[in-house]
Amino acid sequence: MRLRTQILLSILGITFLSQAVFGFLAYREISESRGDQLTIFLEYLSREVAQRIMLPDDSYVSEIYLEELRKKFSTPSSILIVQKNDRVLYMAGELEQSVSVVSKHLKQAYEDSDKHGLINIEGTQYYWAISPLPDNDYQLIMLQPEANEEIKIASNLRSRLLSSGFVVLWIAVWIGLLLSSKISRQLDEKNDQLKHLALHDALTGLPNRALLTDRLKQLLLQSQRNKEPFALFLMDLDRFKEVNDTLGHQFGDELLKMVSSRLLKSIRDKDSIARLGGDEFAVLLPQTDLEGALVCAQRIIKSMEATFVINDVTTESKASIGIALYPIHTDDVDVLMQYADVAMYQAKKSRSGFAIYDPTQNKHSVRRLTLMNDLRLAVENNDIHVYYQPIIGADKFSVTGVEALARWTHSELGNITPDEFIPMAEQMGLIRSLTFQVFKQTLIDSVKWSDKGYVLNLNVNVSTYCLQDLALSRKINELITQFSIEASRIELEITESALMHDLSRSRKIIDQLSASGMRLAIDDFGTGFSSLNYLKNLPVNTLKIDKSFIQDMNENESDKAIVKTVIELGHNLNCRVVAEGVENQAVIDSLKVLNVDAFQGYFYNVPLPADGFFEWLVDYNK
Ligand code: C2E
Ligand code: CA
Ligand code: CA
Repeated sequence: MRLRTQILLSILGITFLSQAVFGFLAYREISESRGDQLTIFLEYLSREVAQRIMLPDDSYVSEIYLEELRKKFSTPSSILIVQKNDRVLYMAGELEQSVSVVSKHLKQAYEDSDKHGLINIEGTQYYWAISPLPDNDYQLIMLQPEANEEIKIASNLRSRLLSSGFVVLWIAVWIGLLLSSKISRQLDEKNDQLKHLALHDALTGLPNRALLTDRLKQLLLQSQRNKEPFALFLMDLDRFKEVNDTLGHQFGDELLKMVSSRLLKSIRDKDSIARLGGDEFAVLLPQTDLEGALVCAQRIIKSMEATFVINDVTTESKASIGIALYPIHTDDVDVLMQYADVAMYQAKKSRSGFAIYDPTQNKHSVRRLTLMNDLRLAVENNDIHVYYQPIIGADKFSVTGVEALARWTHSELGNITPDEFIPMAEQMGLIRSLTFQVFKQTLIDSVKWSDKGYVLNLNVNVSTYCLQDLALSRKINELITQFSIEASRIELEITESALMHDLSRSRKIIDQLSASGMRLAIDDFGTGFSSLNYLKNLPVNTLKIDKSFIQDMNENESDKAIVKTVIELGHNLNCRVVAEGVENQAVIDSLKVLNVDAFQGYFYNVPLPADGFFEWLVDYNK
């Protein structure tokens, strides 16, 4: 049954019931009060009778007196009876029925109800009441025919009850109708809201993944029917996770809203946009071929160029768009989504803003998806290990420090190089937890070595993504305090290219780290086009010359010239200069001549796990 009918029927039911109960009570009230009146009157009368008549001797006088009383106190038609032990002694007033019939009915009546009531004596209704006469066994009974007036009252009451019942019913029906239609309208609205919520993203109001999938399927059918092409974009914001983590979720939410409104402005009416979750969006472009897709992608990229200003904070947010096309790439909805994802990764990797799906990249992307999935688990389960490579001081050729290098062995794909998984961790927003794991493990291992008399400086690689975290300095300081390690033993390595790219954002945190006594090394120096002006102002302690210049320096004059220049530059800036990637004695000799401060490379050892490294360390110092 529909809710509306249910409400209506319940209101009708309740109205009927209350009418019936009310009518019954009112009617009973009337008869009761009539009976009560009679009883009160009789009680008064019985006192009077007891005083005035002699019972049972002077029966004649009494009979007359009774008649007088009846006339005096009652209506002309009422009957007064004196009886003893159910036997009628006197009766005043006119009664059509015989005494025996009356007394039989009366006896029945006061057996049913003790003091008063209504009886029917052969077709006539009488109110009756009984009262004992004081001080003896006599009882006084009065019968009063149900007066016309009362019959009128009752029928009046009935008709009023009936008419008011109809009015109430009529009102109730209307109220019921109004109420039920209002409630069902509200329910319909609620239902619509719920449906909307289930298919839309709460933050931006854009369709969600479920609705997109639905629309994609419909579009596919329609495009197949009409033999038209269409395009699917998957889009993701570069470095959104970092923005979210460093500037807060509220900021991130605002940014997403602004991005979605810019997106909406860059598409045609017939295109649709969905938010798939996080910073991932999808755009569906019906009747669009490669050319049209490129135009739209460029429009979106352009719309994202202007900076976003949120609560006076200015940020930029670039997007990477992956494009997959029907029918040239596939005619399967799921595969199309996957291809757009592969293309998006290409766009991200090449920093080109957008990329069209390229089938030759597909194999690579399956591996990438597997790795990305498993990397998250590896970081969560602390499955990233740390290997150590010694750094050797050039003056005494003693081990002055170690560089901690992250390692990951995948259960099926074997060893994954940091060059592959570190950029992934950066992209996925896992780099901070990964860095902390490496940091903590390095401190744990270094404490073991110190306990055995080998106090080494500790070089840890820090991604510039970590340098967006305002709490970084505090967190590192907490960690080194926990392990009682002096800040000056810690050297943070930041690659030159990344540092230059993000310097304006990381500067504040670099200064904090430096102020708390930690050292800063510029890694892969020579590959990143440092601005000398920046370099001069940064609190840099060490330059690590990239191994690409070191490895062939004896064979390649220009490499040698660069190495020589970098060493001089470093010294002029009061920096220590470390040569990375030393693989043979000849290179060491040349570097020594050029006055380098330290060496690191396979010549001494490859990065080793903590135990292996310590064995080597003990052996080296013999
Ligand atoms: P990097 O910081 O420049 O580390 C030195 C890399 O050069 C290491 O590669 C090391 O194994 C390799 N290497 C050392 N000596 C020689 C040599 O004589 N010859 C040659 N050919 N290579 C040598 P690895 O361990 O594969 O690390 C690659 C890069 O991954 C690192 O380069 C670093 O940028 C990054 N990385 C490693 N661990 C971490 C980490 O925990 N955090 C971050 N952010 N990055 C890390
Ligand atoms: Ca390094
Ligand atoms: Ca390096």
